[in-house]
Amino acid sequence: MAYEKITLPDTGEKITFANGNMQVPDNPILLFIEGDGIGYDIMTASKRIWDAAVDKAYGGRRRVSWMEVYAGEKAAGIYDGNYMPDETFAAFREYKVGIKGPLTTPVGGGFRSLNVTLRQVLDLYSCVRPVRWYNGVPSPLKRPQDVDVVIFRENTEDTYAGIEYESGTAENKKLAEFLKSELGATNFFPDAGLGIKPISPFGSKRLIRAAIKYAIERGRSIVTLVHKGNIQKFTEGAFQKWGYELAREEFPERTISWDDVAANHGGDVPNGKILIQDTIADIMFQKMLLRPREHDVIATTNLNGDYLSDALAAEVGGVGIAPGANIGDEIALFEATHGTAPKYTNKDMVNPGSLLFSGVMMLEHLDWFEAADLISKAYELTIDQRCVTYDFARQMENATKVATSEFATRIIENMDAV
Ligand code: NAD
Repeated sequence: MAYEKITLPDTGEKITFANGNMQVPDNPILLFIEGDGIGYDIMTASKRIWDAAVDKAYGGRRRVSWMEVYAGEKAAGIYDGNYMPDETFAAFREYKVGIKGPLTTPVGGGFRSLNVTLRQVLDLYSCVRPVRWYNGVPSPLKRPQDVDVVIFRENTEDTYAGIEYESGTAENKKLAEFLKSELGATNFFPDAGLGIKPISPFGSKRLIRAAIKYAIERGRSIVTLVHKGNIQKFTEGAFQKWGYELAREEFPERTISWDDVAANHGGDVPNGKILIQDTIADIMFQKMLLRPREHDVIATTNLNGDYLSDALAAEVGGVGIAPGANIGDEIALFEATHGTAPKYTNKDMVNPGSLLFSGVMMLEHLDWFEAADLISKAYELTIDQRCVTYDFARQMENATKVATSEFATRIIENMDAV
């Protein structure tokens, strides 16, 4: 389709879908949203690294054609104050895959987060956060190398449904009255703020399906359903129940539940099967500190996943390097997980790691594993050489503090050495 302000690249082809399978040409058009604040610095550095890795991994046979689309402050400058132009959504619907830097959420009444808007409008129902440690990255754990999990967090229900009624409003009073008189729910104080937590079989199952498919495709061995079902039986508890049901009905050949392993296999998971287990959300935080090796792929509801993603990121270097993606049935939007860090804008100082590794996830999503691997290895070598941005330099001994752009150059140079 024709766009008003978006310029199509001179070369490149669209990513398409046939029977639910993604078809990636050798010269795909990928979208990028630069992002506000430090967005320019980290996007410029990361694009150089991604392009170099693709070029080196495939000897020029593959190449990305980048197409810039707009959101946030840059969009507001181009589209007369519109922070989230419609043609950005249209471009994602047409081109399917892209990556974004952080976006400012302007402070002020009635303004929805641009990030949440993108997820909801494009129905990107899985928030995917891989958490693994790279050799040399500062960590508070004794054995950070034991952490290697991928979190699938539900992105559309639960707290993100945003159904809340403020204390003192007519709606709140009406709902309180309905709960008391019609449903016999009496154990809350007068004028309590009220929130509704919707968790559906549809929303839960599509998220858990994506997690199990990921485990199958990437050779992972465990999927843990994380929930608070001991207290919230019909929402969190139902999520767990629907998870086991889905595994049984849709993946009977590839999965096995913990109960089945214990009852029929003497506690040993049969070869080739993915173990489906579950755990209560609160104890999960302790487990991920004390016995992280017992977890692999994690599927969880929205609020649990919110807490868990940032807590686990802290185990392996913090949100400065934690990557993420929001993925729907066809569209995938990869993103830096930190904010715009306004005080560092255009200082060429910050760590590009979060965006860089979100791009590594994007390359893996395209099945371009060789290029993704090259970046991970060159990054590790660079950290090993103690060549780091300011945030890591202050946590490491004998480190050389470099600019974002110099850090990118060193990673690209190191690709030839790994
Ligand atoms: P922030 O993540 O922008 O910054 C907090 C601090 O973390 C910074 O001051 C800096 O010390 C550090 N930091 C962040 N990214 C870093 C990097 N790449 N390298 C080194 N250090 C880094 O969080 P904030 O200050 O709470 O939010 C600022 C703005 O970002 C707000 O407008 C907020 O709405 C927005 N935000 C956007 C996203 C997103 O786009 N996904 C996420 C969070 C916050």
